[in-house]
Amino acid sequence: MTTYQKRRTRVKCPYCDRDAELITGDKLYPRRADLYTKKFYYCPHDDAYVGCHVGTSAPLGRLANAELRAEKVKTHALFDPIWKSTMMSRTDAYKWLAEQMGLSVANCHIGMFDVDQCKKAQLIILESRYGDTGES
Ligand SMILES: [Zn+2]
Repeated sequence: MTTYQKRRTRVKCPYCDRDAELITGDKLYPRRADLYTKKFYYCPHDDAYVGCHVGTSAPLGRLANAELRAEKVKTHALFDPIWKSTMMSRTDAYKWLAEQMGLSVANCHIGMFDVDQCKKAQLIILESRYGDTGES
């Protein structure tokens, strides 16, 4: 069958290899009414989750536990200023990061990184000329 499958994709938790549950944002973020209808895949055993592409049940990447979520936040905090405060566009910034990390651009998204990749990206940025792109 080549038609769109109505049945939801099976998404596995990368930590325990069990099927993740498809839930809505109200369960994860009771205070964020704007996320109530957004879908997430969630693993209660690892407190790991990932959001879905808007309006679909397609996961944005792999499920992330608390450690990985913290690393992603750190990576974004270093990476985002590159395209926010230099002449580089977001696309170009990801292209640059992909090159440095030896990844294809399609696979180079912080949302798809694991903990090691997050740490590698953080080092790359810190050691590059973008490392001190701060508020001046
Ligand atoms: Zn799990």
